[in-house]
Amino acid sequence: MKQDIFGLTIEELEEAFVALGLKKFRAKQVFQWIYQKSVFDFNEMRNLSKADIALLEENFCLLPKRINLLREQNSTDGMTSKLLLGLPDGNSVETVLMHHDYGYSVCVSSQVGCDMHCAFCASGLNGAVRNLTLAEIVAQVYLFNERLKSKNASVSRIVVMGSGEPMLNYDNVFGALDFLHLESTCFMSYRNMTVSTCGIIPGIKRMTDDAKPINLAISLHAVKMDLRTSLMPVNKGFVFTDVIDAAEKYAETTGREITYEYILLKDVNDSEEDAQLLSNFLRYKHATVNLIPANPVPEKGFHRPSEKTIDRFVKILSKNKTNATVRKEMGKDIAAACGQLRAKFAREQQK
Ligand code: SAH
Repeated sequence: MKQDIFGLTIEELEEAFVALGLKKFRAKQVFQWIYQKSVFDFNEMRNLSKADIALLEENFCLLPKRINLLREQNSTDGMTSKLLLGLPDGNSVETVLMHHDYGYSVCVSSQVGCDMHCAFCASGLNGAVRNLTLAEIVAQVYLFNERLKSKNASVSRIVVMGSGEPMLNYDNVFGALDFLHLESTCFMSYRNMTVSTCGIIPGIKRMTDDAKPINLAISLHAVKMDLRTSLMPVNKGFVFTDVIDAAEKYAETTGREITYEYILLKDVNDSEEDAQLLSNFLRYKHATVNLIPANPVPEKGFHRPSEKTIDRFVKILSKNKTNATVRKEMGKDIAAACGQLRAKFAREQQK
């Protein structure tokens, strides 16, 4: 069987090359083709000899070439593309590319499915299947880099906000971010990376110990204890007040501002009282609230509040000196909320 060399370190690649009888410096060349030029076909690596290419073809393969594009949806404004990727083992994950005025950012998945069972989310409809590997996380970025070559552009930001709970796949997620941080790959600054968690405190603590300036986002969504537990069962194990404390320590250690995500769900968590309580918790913290008008998930029965209700919520926060932004919606017309495309695809396959 061919060895998949995507995601290997340069040292590991050198070892594999030498074992095959290739010159050690060839590994560096191939590494550059893959991670600086987003070339995944050995035949296109023009500084290699025909014999070397044949040897590589015979023994190695590269994950981006083994991933099948199952679906692609582009928003009508052309700013958002969502891919449903078929992994070599038959599982599928979603990845989203967003074009902002400051560049391209990609929203990567960290697990196939999810075990957190948040009430409003489509990712966990069937639980978590498995963790993604480091290579599978890195490949999500590189598949878009390959597409952006024609525009002379590349991905400059990553948000780990796709399907899955990143803190339950810590080594692979943060390993992938470290890999993309390397000068010999994307050379992406940690400041351009964001990890979003439902509030797994040991993961937040580990990030605090690692002390890299990665942005931390907390999916809060409710600040009444029972309501949060009913929306996000993780609140039973890690109550949100402790999560906020852990996030504060992270902010103190790294200097990075925390983002609190708050989905506005009609008649569930969008009242004046909810806004008031939210600002009681977050006022004077090094934090911003990112309000997300819910992407309706038909199988879950949640709805988006009216513009008027959203405005009222924002006004109460600002009156109470709590930084807040309303998420610029991208790709609503392409089912861009977590897990929606994968769930739709699965439904269609069943029919
Ligand atoms: N498990 C991580 C990352 C994945 S979810 C976390 O919980 O943060 C990424 C964000 O999308 C979370 O804030 C999640 O709550 C939100 N989300 C999930 N379903 C949504 C929906 N239907 N509408 C809007 N946002 C949603």
